[in-house]
Amino acid sequence: MIDETIKNLPVLVTGASGYIASWIVKYLLEEGYTVHATVRDPSKQSSVGHLLKIAQQAKGTLKLFKADLLTEGSYAEAMQGCGVVMHTASPFVLDGFTDANEALVRPALEGTRNVLNSVNQCETVKRVVLTSSVAAIYGDNEDILRVPSGIFTEDHWNVTSSVSHNPYQYSKVVAEREAWKMQGNQSRWDLVTINPSMVFGPSLTSGSLSASIDTLVQMGDGRLRMGVPKLILGIVDVREVAKAHILAAFTPQAKGRHILSNTELTMLQIGKILRKQYGNKYPFPFMEAPKFVVWAVGPLMGPVTRDFIKRNVGLPLKFDNRRSRELGVKYRPAEETFIEHFQQVIDDGLLKKK
Ligand code: NAP
Repeated sequence: MIDETIKNLPVLVTGASGYIASWIVKYLLEEGYTVHATVRDPSKQSSVGHLLKIAQQAKGTLKLFKADLLTEGSYAEAMQGCGVVMHTASPFVLDGFTDANEALVRPALEGTRNVLNSVNQCETVKRVVLTSSVAAIYGDNEDILRVPSGIFTEDHWNVTSSVSHNPYQYSKVVAEREAWKMQGNQSRWDLVTINPSMVFGPSLTSGSLSASIDTLVQMGDGRLRMGVPKLILGIVDVREVAKAHILAAFTPQAKGRHILSNTELTMLQIGKILRKQYGNKYPFPFMEAPKFVVWAVGPLMGPVTRDFIKRNVGLPLKFDNRRSRELGVKYRPAEETFIEHFQQVIDDGLLKKK
């Protein structure tokens, strides 16, 4: 278990430019921590501009480092003297690649190994907080049919994903398993994982490629106007996910996995929340397409396979978020998350102002 002295040491945040990590860095800086932030390219304004601006107004100190998941030893310099390592960097893309292993699995798995090998050599590190995902808990909604209680908890593991079926989910489960294996081989540092469902809420950066952001853009750009699949998503606000990382880092007794999920909503329900706020200014989805239609045309319209549709559309999904609430996370109403996120998508120019 960690002690209070850990609070005086710098905190390493990997992938600091990301959608979730940017909020983590902001909260850490506001609380006065020194943050060692790694990005692939510290000279890229779209990656670091917003972080530098946040740092100017905050109590804490930001130090930028260059690091890549696939370069061995890349995180060692940034980790020097840190008490906590928050490992968030991992590709979160659902399309735009041809080789899923290279695009997702290798960076997630080798990157986790790479970061934790450096943790093993860095005596000051006492705790690692890993940004895992509910994707490490389940692969497809239909997996819930094998859970007698009908609710996913931290005891469950994704055993149905592979490189060819749900490669992103696979990348997350192999990375988290590797992290637990490496943690179990030593006793100096402990591991706490944060396992968010689909994250929404305002972004501090318009440079992120996170699939979270594109999902909300789709809601308003007309791609889903003709109907959405009846797909139930676990959803959580990015600010709650960021706060959970900080609670996980500095709560001495924190341990194990934590599902971060506020509630479950269908895509149509998300559309309804947005329509209530914005009326018909944007072509929000207003109906659900029958599963056979989604099965027939879905793969022609986006990066979704018939196998995914079969195993997810129309199937239930439920998460137990008790452990995160025990950690101290307080969930805001989902309406707030979606309205603030959609407004920010408009303000960032990702959708036309109407
Ligand atoms: P994001 O904005 O795309 O952030 C991902 C970060 O990973 C980027 O900042 C990127 O850094 C970094 N990265 C990717 N490939 C890298 C590489 N080869 N070397 C070094 N850094 C690399 O996505 P996000 O949504 O914030 O995701 C952050 C974490 O949360 C990921 O682990 C993701 O799996 C997890 N997660 C996300 C969600 C969600 O709904 N968003 C849900 C559950 C879990 P650069 O800027 O330097 O390129």
